[in-house]
Amino acid sequence: MKTTIFEKAGQVAIEEVAKPTIQADDDAIIKVVRTCVCGSDLWAYRGLEDKDDYSANSGHEAIGIVDSVGSAITTVKPGDFVIAPFTHGCGHCAACLAGFDGDCQSHDDNFSSAVQSEYVRFQHADWALVKVPGQPADYSDKMLNSLLSLADVMATGYHATRVANVTTGDTVVVVGDGAVGLCGVIAAKMRGAKRIIAMSRHEDRQKLAREFGATDIIAGGPASVTTYDKQVLLKAVLDGDIHPGKVFTKAFKLDDINAAYQAMAKREAIKSLIIV
Ligand SMILES: [Zn+2]
Ligand SMILES: [Zn+2]
Repeated sequence: MKTTIFEKAGQVAIEEVAKPTIQADDDAIIKVVRTCVCGSDLWAYRGLEDKDDYSANSGHEAIGIVDSVGSAITTVKPGDFVIAPFTHGCGHCAACLAGFDGDCQSHDDNFSSAVQSEYVRFQHADWALVKVPGQPADYSDKMLNSLLSLADVMATGYHATRVANVTTGDTVVVVGDGAVGLCGVIAAKMRGAKRIIAMSRHEDRQKLAREFGATDIIAGGPASVTTYDKQVLLKAVLDGDIHPGKVFTKAFKLDDINAAYQAMAKREAIKSLIIV
């Protein structure tokens, strides 16, 4: 199968590798239909974060079809259409039960990687995958893009508003370095008590705390992707209440992966869609 290899800063390429296989009872293998480039993938691409040359891609957002499942998987079966969140919550630890599956306490491999590929091995799949009704062919291009955004970027933006306690009608400032400011977000609630949330894997949070000395609250962490998708976001997309797929302003084939990274690095695309 084809996968994206991080050759070096400024260069990713497609390589032929073995198709992933089930390695644990709670694994699922997913045939990727759409994936994308994240603002956080660009840190290494721009040479701003250490990443080994010729290593697997850091891509972590996908929708696809379940290809095979391990013996412990009861919630999805081969042929199901799913969102593959970048988080892999177990659904039953204290963090997951409290709605923080981005901080799942059951395992230390809670994040996706290498999904800019034709197939991915998705670990801890039983609760973490989000099943979508029907098949990809049942949905418009725009709707598929919105469903893809539920693997990370929409849920991450939603997480920012949740932890900042933002409600309808509030005025907020969003500052970010990811796609439309949703991957690294500082949102300052402008009305009432000053509340600032800072969520970024790439910023010095202590420094942020000093800069925003008057902050009431600093909160953040990885989004509770599966929780939000199942509780709110999937229905909102399917009902047409939100259209987060608009974030994808350029589309590429998997073979053109470097151009997809380039478009975002040069800010010619807000977020690059990869059709597999
Ligand atoms: Zn991401
Ligand atoms: Zn958990």
